[in-house]
Amino acid sequence: MADPARRRFVSHLECSLTGERYEAGRLHGLSRAGKPLLVRYDLNAVRAAFDPTALAARPHDMWRFAELLPHGDITRLTLGETATPLIALARIGADTGARAPLVKDEGRLPTGSFKARGLAMAVAMAAELGVERIGMPTNGNAGAALAAYAARLGIAATIFCPADTPETNIRETAALGARVFRVDGLIDDCGAIVARGAAAGRWLDFSTLKEPYRIEGKKTMGLELAEQLGWRLPDAIFYPTGGGTGLIGMWKAFDELEAIGLIGPERPKMFAVQAEGCAPIVRAFEAGADHAERWEDAHTAAAGIRVPKAIGDFLILRAVRESGGRALAVSDAAIADGVARVARRDGLLLCPEGAATLVAWEQALSSGFVSADDRVVLFNCATGLKYPLPEDGEHFSGSLDQAMGTSPA
Ligand SMILES: *Cc1c(COP(=O)(O)O)cnc(C)c1O
Repeated sequence: MADPARRRFVSHLECSLTGERYEAGRLHGLSRAGKPLLVRYDLNAVRAAFDPTALAARPHDMWRFAELLPHGDITRLTLGETATPLIALARIGADTGARAPLVKDEGRLPTGSFKARGLAMAVAMAAELGVERIGMPTNGNAGAALAAYAARLGIAATIFCPADTPETNIRETAALGARVFRVDGLIDDCGAIVARGAAAGRWLDFSTLKEPYRIEGKKTMGLELAEQLGWRLPDAIFYPTGGGTGLIGMWKAFDELEAIGLIGPERPKMFAVQAEGCAPIVRAFEAGADHAERWEDAHTAAAGIRVPKAIGDFLILRAVRESGGRALAVSDAAIADGVARVARRDGLLLCPEGAATLVAWEQALSSGFVSADDRVVLFNCATGLKYPLPEDGEHFSGSLDQAMGTSPA
């Protein structure tokens, strides 16, 4: 029989709201109901074909669980997406009096963020289906990842970002050959421009969840995490939530892993973490609503989670509630303090969004939503090096004589 890692198990696509079926192997955007499409697999066939002992011979990359991924004939598109490590914050844990949280450090992926997982998959599938031009709104990291993978396949990428997107992201995206436009507005304003261009036939709309494959790439975070923890999921996952692709993707991954017999019915509590200045999911969670209203005047230094309106809101809220987790908001001041503490105590330079998960975990501990001996995973979604670093007069000021101890400090 053919190598199971090369076999295709996708059965169809499905509307995430109505369950309506769509044919795989064709270009789709949203469903007729205007909701995201999810990729479905013949999980019985995967279960029969998948031999966990075969994993020993496979590289630690996104394609380790190829049976649970869509793929076609194009060579797998890769810039070297490695499995990302789990790093214990031992000293922060001791400071807090709790079991050290584990940081899944996604900053080590190509283009420095976990957007690489989703875009490697989505760009490959788009190319597979004959797409030559892609348009996308972004808060920064998604644009850079799209630009990188599009460059490898000669696809033209046009990217719209809020004018105050971190400068590093904008320059990185332009350096990778994409056309970048700064927009006086937020990411959903950029999304409206992309939608207009898509309607006029200028490009395929690659907005978050408006094509079905980015979730499948992000899902690999859940597959990888389960394997790293010996097929025992953690007690809680804290995920910085913008469009929610990763949270929705991991939740889907866990169901698929259970269906193929690798894990049982246990699930981690899923915590969706947002910034106080842009917390539409938190507000909807607290109101008991199924959908989230747009958040007006969104502001936060954590650009990756400045998403006033998420098209997958109901999927995020459903996963959070089914898991027994919560949606939590944290302040920008606490985020900045979290970045500084983790850097100095445990030597890891988190991105602001990653630090938001640390702060939310500490809040959840003191509110009793998690306990001190819970095994907790925090997602650091990008390298801290992509963000403006704080100036630190304290450490740079002073003369060399002071540094050498030859004159009083
Ligand atoms: C995109 C992004 C997020 C949000 O991820 P979603 O899966 O879209 O919710 C968080 N942090 C950073 C750094 C990002 O780039």
